[in-house]
Amino acid sequence: MAVSNLQCRECKAQYPLDALYVCERCFGPLEVIYDHSRLVEGGVNELRRRIQGGPQNIWRYADFLPLVDGPPGPSGRLASRTGLPAGCTPLIRADRLAKRLGLREVWVKNDAANPTHSFKDRVVSVAAARARELGFQVIACASTGNLANSVAAHAAALGLDSYVFIPADLEEQKVLATGVYGTKLVAVKGNYDDVNRLCTELSAERDWAFVNVNLRPYYAEGSKTLAYEISEQLGFELPDRCVVPIASGSLFTKIAKGFAEWRDLGLVDGELPTMNGAQAQGCSPVANAFASGHEVCRPVKPDTIAKSLAIGNPADGPYALEEARCSGGSIDAVSDDEIRAGIALLAQTTGVFTETAGGVTTAVLAKLAARGDIDPSERVVLVITGEGLKTLDAVRGTFEYSEIDPTVEQFQTHVERIPAFAGTGS
Ligand SMILES: *Cc1c(COP(=O)(O)O)cnc(C)c1O
Ligand SMILES: [Zn+2]
Repeated sequence: MAVSNLQCRECKAQYPLDALYVCERCFGPLEVIYDHSRLVEGGVNELRRRIQGGPQNIWRYADFLPLVDGPPGPSGRLASRTGLPAGCTPLIRADRLAKRLGLREVWVKNDAANPTHSFKDRVVSVAAARARELGFQVIACASTGNLANSVAAHAAALGLDSYVFIPADLEEQKVLATGVYGTKLVAVKGNYDDVNRLCTELSAERDWAFVNVNLRPYYAEGSKTLAYEISEQLGFELPDRCVVPIASGSLFTKIAKGFAEWRDLGLVDGELPTMNGAQAQGCSPVANAFASGHEVCRPVKPDTIAKSLAIGNPADGPYALEEARCSGGSIDAVSDDEIRAGIALLAQTTGVFTETAGGVTTAVLAKLAARGDIDPSERVVLVITGEGLKTLDAVRGTFEYSEIDPTVEQFQTHVERIPAFAGTGS
């Protein structure tokens, strides 16, 4: 496989491919380094064919993922990687949404169509597979919600024990959709940053694979598959712009990295996409830093309906900021009301019902369009990371409906004669 070692993002110190995540010399984050030179020896077309001939899930991109055993086969030691296949989610052309926003070409990447209904299945697939390779028996995580669902489900599929730590005030849907898998679920009285601190302490003392702590370098690489998929679904072409939500900033930076890797290898050509980050105003440390032109500094205390994005102290915030600036993009924040409007706009123009994080992303796209930041000729991809059924409170009370007796007369008086219900729709 192409993976070679871990390297510090800051001082470039080299480390072996173990359960390590922070540099001993400078405390910088570690990331995975590859040597792809052998991959393109047979030419770009052959590599494209090899990808297209792969399984209908993220393992078609195994050459670009940090696993040391070759691509997964139907049998043998690698079968574990197909335990709960993630990825190959729809990329939907959204002409009605584009028209509403005065844009020409908008695509919705619907990552709610993953096994546990969020993009987290990509990162957990990779972390869990690497945890198996490293011989761990237990996987664990500090979660804002979707990661909890995914870790619990993947542990069940692989027959591993799991511990899942969540903030105690999480949406009920996400708590229920985690516990059902038979994980050891721990609700911590505090916010995500408290949960994360506790997990960091525990990871130093327990022989567990915390997917987003000590396995973070491997976990983060899973997000690159979103970029690969978008490129492949566009016929091995790059979009002009991507709008992506930011919590820790990992997804945002890794999508950009995925596009850059494929362009460096010649799998796609042209300019790299402009990257626009999306945060909720109630937790927007990275958007604030972008607006002020400074670095991400003091942690913020989250207060927003977008709980899956509520990280007040984002580990990859500085790198997300750098990526947005270098690509000519921005990082914007939207209010809770704009988030609700974003959920409704996406649902009513595309038929895709997203959770609050997708409301954030859609609202930021609307904001960029209104501000004139997007040239009408651009091909824009809106990355929808999670499912609306997990955050039902966000839409409760946002529309009316009528309840009637089963008679035509009641239908006429209560529905047809009331203008709000008699409209033709548009
Ligand atoms: C976790 C999550 C994100 C962002 O993740 P980061 O990589 O931490 O920035 C976005 N959307 C949803 C729905 C999530 O659960
Ligand atoms: Zn270092």
